[in-house]
Amino acid sequence: MFPMKLIVQKFGGTSVADTSALKIVAERIIDRKKQGYEVVVVPSAMGSSTDELIDLANELSAKPTPREMDMLLSAGERITMSLLSMHLNSLGHSSFSLTGSQAGIITTSRHGKAEIEEISGERVREGIERGDIVIVAGFQGFNRDTREITTLGRGGSDATAVALAAALGAEKCEIFTDVEGVFTADPRIIDSAKLIDEITYDEMLEMSSSGAGVLMARSVEFGRRYNVPIIVKSTFANNKGTIVKEKIMEEAIVSGVTHNDKEVKFTLFGVPDQPGIAGTVFGSLSEIGTNVDMIVQNVSKESITDISFTAPSEQQKDVEDTLKNISKKLDAKGYDVDENIARISIIGAGMKSESGVASKMFKTLGDNKINISMISTSPIRVSCVISSSDIERALNVLHEEFITK
Ligand code: ADP
Ligand code: ASP
Ligand code: MG
Repeated sequence: MFPMKLIVQKFGGTSVADTSALKIVAERIIDRKKQGYEVVVVPSAMGSSTDELIDLANELSAKPTPREMDMLLSAGERITMSLLSMHLNSLGHSSFSLTGSQAGIITTSRHGKAEIEEISGERVREGIERGDIVIVAGFQGFNRDTREITTLGRGGSDATAVALAAALGAEKCEIFTDVEGVFTADPRIIDSAKLIDEITYDEMLEMSSSGAGVLMARSVEFGRRYNVPIIVKSTFANNKGTIVKEKIMEEAIVSGVTHNDKEVKFTLFGVPDQPGIAGTVFGSLSEIGTNVDMIVQNVSKESITDISFTAPSEQQKDVEDTLKNISKKLDAKGYDVDENIARISIIGAGMKSESGVASKMFKTLGDNKINISMISTSPIRVSCVISSSDIERALNVLHEEFITK
């Protein structure tokens, strides 16, 4: 639709933390303008202001309604978008800001975890045609049926940016953050982590889903579905960053080691081992929107079994409420929650054609006296649930074994 070159640039919380950071962001935008690009910008809320807003809500209410939570949290990105636009205007660049709903970002109705369904983007296109820098608030949208503002889940500005890039037919989407790109492990924890120059959507999706918070998993899904190249790089260092795309030159056996310590393990014990039980348990959990991750059903003894699964810590309260009901309904003995668990994963497309990778991972953990309580795999990932107190050590030994060696 647009013959011109178009780019979407997203700036994360640290990149827009204060007015001096916003001035650097403006330079990044103007650089692209000077190169002949039309630019659409997606800012996050300033610094840790989303967390601060959540704290304020919790001071006043034990269980704020999801609707008011979204009204509150969507305000974070609105502050950044208007400040950035004012600054660009003051520098002589024509710019204006839009909320998610003004930009036509249509989502499902689930507050706090809405999914983008469609982007009409009329006002964004009008702005681009006039040559304006259009700034669209990240992390938020609008549901047509409920006529409510929604938010997309933590890290959701990444999804706004890549979905917008897809809808507008942008050449690429740049994700500016506080690290120089995607690393072989979280660079804040592993000093020897290496910057990855290029990675496939499939591998990045596994990395994001298993804890590499640098890109929200859903943004990678949009990138893959619409073939939008995603470039992750630092706002403050002028570097090439990491490119996430369909095909890369060389597929490593293990590209990265990720960890997630924001999950809890639930065990429903003494459940009658009959057909349909798992369906009842996970059906009820899916009704409340639980993102169940790993599942293990024990061997049954005298037609009684235990079922364990992991889910995000933020859903712990809701899952416990549901388990209380299910446990009564199924005449189970009860349930148990283990908060001291974490998940460690290795990811690599080269695993598909290499045998023995999983067993090497188990052996490395075993040699270091790290006990594994659950295992799950995909063709390009192996994950183990271990004790949260072992996570940093596990990350170090696996990074050493599979990346540094
Ligand atoms: P933003 O606010 O810019 O969206 P995030 O905090 O969401 O930034 O994501 C950047 C953070 O992701 C980094 O500070 C880093 O600690 C973390 N991270 C975790 N795993 C990785 C990884 N494999 N590569 C790069 N960063 C990672
Ligand atoms: N401000 C939101 C968050 O902190 C969205 C984002 O930054 O991507 O999760
Ligand atoms: Mg983020």
